[in-house]
Amino acid sequence: KLSSRLQHIADRLPPGCRFADIGSDHALLPVWAVKHEAALSAVAGEVNDGPLKAAKRQVAEAGLGQRIAVRRGDGLQVIDSGEVDTITIAGMGGALIASILEAGQDKLAGVKRLILQPNVGEELVRRWLLDHDWYVTDETILEEDGKIYEIITADAVPDASKLNEELYKERPLQQGKDDAASKLSLTKELLLLLGPRLAAEASDVFLEKWNSEIVKLERIHHSVAASQLSASQDKAQELSLMIKQLKGVL
Ligand code: SAM
Repeated sequence: KLSSRLQHIADRLPPGCRFADIGSDHALLPVWAVKHEAALSAVAGEVNDGPLKAAKRQVAEAGLGQRIAVRRGDGLQVIDSGEVDTITIAGMGGALIASILEAGQDKLAGVKRLILQPNVGEELVRRWLLDHDWYVTDETILEEDGKIYEIITADAVPDASKLNEELYKERPLQQGKDDAASKLSLTKELLLLLGPRLAAEASDVFLEKWNSEIVKLERIHHSVAASQLSASQDKAQELSLMIKQLKGVL
């Protein structure tokens, strides 16, 4: 049985897909997906020896060596152009995910869907997707074992840039309860941070995540504001605006 996090990722694989799971570790996702007919075949990519061995063992034990290729390599180097239609990258930082996509752009030509689960730095992933005309069709936020995870699904669609314009269009904060909040708006920057679809849905887990982020930001604001340096004062103002905006969303 998969963890709830990996199951959510598996649920977003298009039926009958051929996918690459980059940073596959024990190849749990490819093994589950191929075994349960959620995918026809898979490539499990790993850059490190330990996880690579674990992946090979797992695939051999499942008797799926014919349908899952375990390959050693950095990022998208493990796939040939046109070999897969879907890519999953889960359980690493958003900066690393974005750099893997950036370095492997030549491998993305035939790819229709990216399913990405950054542990931190989600906005870096959204920004990369936006800059490269991928359209976020689904965002999921979930809590498992006391940790909160976001899963971002992006598709290669015609008119992506037009759709993205709409998705990230600045909008007023409807929830603004008082005057101060009603003057604020949900900017593109804020939408990249929060997730445009997650912000619209504002689920309980989303609210929990950002309420606790606000507490952290308020702590930082408090210490920065105490400094007399003008750079600190600028930073304090920036943080104060961000806290106000976030409070307006919640
Ligand atoms: N994807 C699995 C999951 O979500 O449960 C495993 C996540 S594990 C925390 C991250 C894995 O990514 C590690 O096994 C690590 O070796 C691998 N990794 C890190 N950088 C990589 C890269 N540039 N290319 C391929 N694999 C990478």
